[in-house]
Amino acid sequence: MRKKIIAGNWKMNMTYEEGQKLTSEIVQMAKDENLDGVTLVLNPPFPHLYVVKKLIGGTSNIFVGAQNCSDKESGAYTGEVSAPILASFGVDYVIIGHSERREYFKESNELLATKVKQALAAGLTPIFCCGESLDIREAGTHEPNVKYQLTDSLFDLSAEEISKVVIAYEPIWAIGTGKTATAEQAQEMHYALRKHLASKYGKEVADSISILYGGSMKPSNAAELLSKPDVDGGLIGGASLKSRDFIDIAKSY
Ligand code: PEP
Repeated sequence: MRKKIIAGNWKMNMTYEEGQKLTSEIVQMAKDENLDGVTLVLNPPFPHLYVVKKLIGGTSNIFVGAQNCSDKESGAYTGEVSAPILASFGVDYVIIGHSERREYFKESNELLATKVKQALAAGLTPIFCCGESLDIREAGTHEPNVKYQLTDSLFDLSAEEISKVVIAYEPIWAIGTGKTATAEQAQEMHYALRKHLASKYGKEVADSISILYGGSMKPSNAAELLSKPDVDGGLIGGASLKSRDFIDIAKSY
């Protein structure tokens, strides 16, 4: 059975105190409301990681993730944070290839392939993001476009390696816009991506990979999206900054 994952991407939000409060509330609510069946991942900005990890403590279904890592292992790369450094702080997951990194920091498929390899080598679980722009969706070429992102960044991995990757399908036109893909649009793409993975790695491997949906997921639309057979969770931006909303999304399963 595939893991059900609800991951929160805090982006560049939350002061030290706000981050502690949010984390403590999420940990408490997840305990009180018996959310053991869902894996929760909190992805704060780098400086929060250590404290968030401490606050999560021994809670077995809550993990901490970074929002990015370097494509280099170590060395003179001022301002960068490597996958091994993250792993040494007890970080479990790392988001790679978010559309904001692709757009604002010009991260290419090739660079992202290297980051995924770095993450895996350090024992982190990459949450690899892919998705199409509005232009591409309107031109009707979204399926080949997103499949190509997987081919180009992931298909050099072995079957064993790709089995450790989580994929997040995030249509760019739905991120932070309030526009959500319909549950049918999400399912159609998730199914197509899984078939694409199967064409390279076989059905058993493809069926084991969690594919999350991201793009304006909130408590009011989560249940419908998460009810689809190929939607294995969500990557949540805005709604992950409010403990009640984040937990309610996880409870929609
Ligand atoms: C995201 O940034 O990954 C995201 C899905 O954001 P939002 O939920 O705010 O659309």
